[in-house]
Amino acid sequence: MGKFVELGLREAILRAVEEGGYEDMTPIQSQTIPEILKGQDLIALAQTGTGKTAAFSLPLIQMLLKGEGKRIAKTARSLILAPTRELAVQIAENIKAYGKYVHLRTALVYGGASANPQIKSVVGGTDILIATPGRLLDLVNQGHIKLGQVEFLILDEADRMLDMGFIRDIRKIIDYLPKKRQTLMFSATMPKTVETLANNILHKPIRIDVAPMATTAEKVEQHVLMVPKSRKRDLLVHILKNPEIKRVLVFTRTKHGANRVATHLEKLGIATGAIHGNKSQNTRQKTLDEFREGNIRALIATDVAARGIDVDDVTHVINFDLPNEPESYVHRIGRTARAGASGVSLSFCDHEERGYLRDIEKIIRQKLPLMVEHPYHFEGIENMDPHADKEDEDPRTGFKPRQNFGKNKPGRRAGNPKPHGNNPRNAKNVKAGGYNAGAPSRKTRPTNARAR
Ligand code: AMP
Repeated sequence: MGKFVELGLREAILRAVEEGGYEDMTPIQSQTIPEILKGQDLIALAQTGTGKTAAFSLPLIQMLLKGEGKRIAKTARSLILAPTRELAVQIAENIKAYGKYVHLRTALVYGGASANPQIKSVVGGTDILIATPGRLLDLVNQGHIKLGQVEFLILDEADRMLDMGFIRDIRKIIDYLPKKRQTLMFSATMPKTVETLANNILHKPIRIDVAPMATTAEKVEQHVLMVPKSRKRDLLVHILKNPEIKRVLVFTRTKHGANRVATHLEKLGIATGAIHGNKSQNTRQKTLDEFREGNIRALIATDVAARGIDVDDVTHVINFDLPNEPESYVHRIGRTARAGASGVSLSFCDHEERGYLRDIEKIIRQKLPLMVEHPYHFEGIENMDPHADKEDEDPRTGFKPRQNFGKNKPGRRAGNPKPHGNNPRNAKNVKAGGYNAGAPSRKTRPTNARAR
């Protein structure tokens, strides 16, 4: 796969990488870094968790060192655009770590926080400007930042930026940039909108595709639990009795939904936090830190707030609501299979969400196994099986349910009394008694709640 030392990077960069504990490159790194160092524009299909931040940060630092000290007031030599404040902060932290032995100036600009310190941070000029599009455009329009000196443009999570409606801001920002520049684009998915943007802003790009969605999805053990909407909370509480679920991300579709779930779990003494767009940037960051440190066991999040969260050792992802955009499913479950680790995802699906489930299965190109043994499953679940009315090959996915459903794991079809008999991990986790086995009852269980 290749080692970092083979890249010809400066000693100061390699030392920082080594201190970070990395020796071997991930696939995205070994494929992109040499190309970026050659000055090539590129579009890379890569999700969070593949090591993509280092893939663009390391060569960027190397290339910027060539013109060290060239800073001009209010300008930036490179610009990294990210969809959310969390991701921007995370990129900045990565760059700080990789650049700890070099002298490059980094500035961070994002919405939802006071603009003054951000304006001050670019007054003297900066080497690396990391920004969310809206706030950056404001500061450019107000004359605080000038983009005419940008030599390198990086768009991270381009698909999400477009999903979030940033396309116009991005186009305006690009109009301010010099035509002669190197542009790198990273995106987890490649919808038409991203292709179009890529065609417009990249110059003879090479395309690198290291993590087709199915590959990441394959690393995650995925299950669907059919449950009436009204019993989802009970099911969640039931599942959280399993002590193996140490650090869990729970996704809801709405901010209010996130709050409701968080409040419910907190009342039961489960250390919980919630992040979504209505929380201030400071609160979100604090909650994330606590989750990272292990003080919070269950983090309830909406899709937008959870983007780019880089927390290792998330043991489980629970989709309390199925996302209405199937791509979000891939992003969500990717949180539990980071940097080579594997993980488990459990998706709650009520009657009305079956269409979403089919959309998800279409884009991940696999059927998701149904977990039948849980106390709130629908009566007559066979009829509720989202695949039940699809016995013939599905023209959209090309899958024959019987052949693919639970491949390598016979006996998973709905209605089988021992659906998980062949999988020891499931057997332990899933059977109704399994969750409680060995775990004290809720009343006597030592609380892991913190005073919040
Ligand atoms: P990213 O895809 O940039 O969000 O990175 C995902 C995670 O992988 C981060 O926690 C990085 O610290 C970690 N990581 C980055 N590069 C490597 C590497 N070469 N080997 C192992 N882990 C890495």
